[in-house]
Amino acid sequence: MTTEPFDISSWPPSLTPIQLEALTLYATTYALSHGLLYLLPGPQPAIPSAAIHAPFSLFPSPFPRKLFETGKRIQRTYNVLYARIAMDEEFLDRVMGTKTGVGKVDDFIGQLWTGWKQLRDEGLAQHLHLGLFRSDYLLHALSNQPLSIKQVEFNTISVSFACLSQRISELHRYLLSSTQYYNCSPQLKPENLPPNRTISGLAEGLAVGHKAYNVQGSRILFVVQPGERNVFDQRWLEYELLEQHSILIIRQTFEELAHSAIVDPHTYILRVSCSTDIHPSGSIEISTVYYRAGYMPNEYPTPAHYATRFLLERSKAIKCPTIALQLAGGKKVQEVLAQPGVLERFLRDEKRYGKDGIFSEHEVNELRSTFMAMWGLDVGEDLLTADYDSISSGKEGFGLLKARNDAHALVLKPQREGGGNNVYKEAIPAFLNSLPPQERQAWIAMELIIPPEGTGNYLIRAGTIQAESQAAVKADVVSELGIFGYALFGGESREVKEKEVGWLVRTKGKDSDEGGVATGFSVLDSLLLVDS
Ligand code: ADP
Ligand code: MG
Repeated sequence: MTTEPFDISSWPPSLTPIQLEALTLYATTYALSHGLLYLLPGPQPAIPSAAIHAPFSLFPSPFPRKLFETGKRIQRTYNVLYARIAMDEEFLDRVMGTKTGVGKVDDFIGQLWTGWKQLRDEGLAQHLHLGLFRSDYLLHALSNQPLSIKQVEFNTISVSFACLSQRISELHRYLLSSTQYYNCSPQLKPENLPPNRTISGLAEGLAVGHKAYNVQGSRILFVVQPGERNVFDQRWLEYELLEQHSILIIRQTFEELAHSAIVDPHTYILRVSCSTDIHPSGSIEISTVYYRAGYMPNEYPTPAHYATRFLLERSKAIKCPTIALQLAGGKKVQEVLAQPGVLERFLRDEKRYGKDGIFSEHEVNELRSTFMAMWGLDVGEDLLTADYDSISSGKEGFGLLKARNDAHALVLKPQREGGGNNVYKEAIPAFLNSLPPQERQAWIAMELIIPPEGTGNYLIRAGTIQAESQAAVKADVVSELGIFGYALFGGESREVKEKEVGWLVRTKGKDSDEGGVATGFSVLDSLLLVDS
């Protein structure tokens, strides 16, 4: 054992071709046996009969132990921060609404906000919100400075890969215990592979919502996308809810819910109708609506789809997330949080949150230290107040000029989730030329995080043809850490019931700007904690 700081760029250790092939066979067989799976690409039959393993890395990826601890620690603060944002209607109206906010120029955000506003005006039947969160980070490596973690984004809807993350951690641990990875690295030992209990953590979050609703016989509704390939990640959560909490779930798409969901006009109870062959009463009361769908505009092709979303929102079932919490997860909110004083408004204001509800300056600064520079394309020179006059006159504001000048070191992001929406570096100037001035407000500019160079791994992707053999491909990679948390809040008390509940690593080829396992850019990975 060496006490020298570990050099991340020395990864992965070398293997002989025979060792590599043996590990690949152990790994893929374990993945197939333990449900580290995806459905096959292409149209999904109603009852699937085949699956392939999800893409994964052969080795866990090295990550500084201290920075992993930091990410877990600040998750508690993030849980409370986003809960408070979701409860701050005035703030969300201003930043995301259709009068002054992003909703003015972004139709999707505008539709969600307008529906939410209408429901608020009618009076909400359920004041509790449930959030399952994932805060994503990359390592940031500036020359002559210690490594740090920087936040990519904070997700408040449909956070995925919690369950498959646990399975890939278990896979790496299995490779270690079955082969010791052929003693190729002294770093590879059990105490450097942190435990991953993310499945039970997320299931606990949903169970906390279900128990707060507190009606015998009610179930959790999983709202899912048609043609979803990542179903096993969702099924593991379903099995955990049943086995550990005796909670049943029901899965439906928006299309199905358009016909099956009924909200009682007096009690606001949400019921999903079903055949009496399945359930004797012909309908099931829903305690909690858990969205694994509904975060992209193309999921709402008609007004009827929005109507279904608002119907569920109107009910007294607990929503994970509420529209408010979904809006809080917008990239515009992330950018506004980086403006001076905004974190203090949510975390240090004793008048609002009481003596016991405020965080120390150190806690706030530790959280802020994970921010990259961000600004709105529509901001004026002081970088604080949106310069609406210059937007409407089409004049170029400071935010836009700065984005042009610094393009090589930036990414531009719209208010979208799910990957593939951002504009990077060289593509920025031409993109800005084509962006109608009134749409600038929907975009933020963010400084690029600079991950450490030279780290590699072996990536294993399943072939889709049966006869095809699998090979591990060595690549230079970048790893993105996600930390999960849940929060239940709202209603009478100011209290936020929250917890940090696990982690995920996704690793992508270095030359890909985007991450995203589902979109094919990256693979599932786990952590090798190192002292660096
Ligand atoms: P999405 O909501 O589509 O997941 P993200 O903000 O997570 O959008 O961006 C997608 C991917 O782009 C990230 O997973 C990361 O790989 C890359 N990325 C995003 N922001 C940055 C940044 N500031 N620096 C470097 N890479 C980034
Ligand atoms: Mg992301």
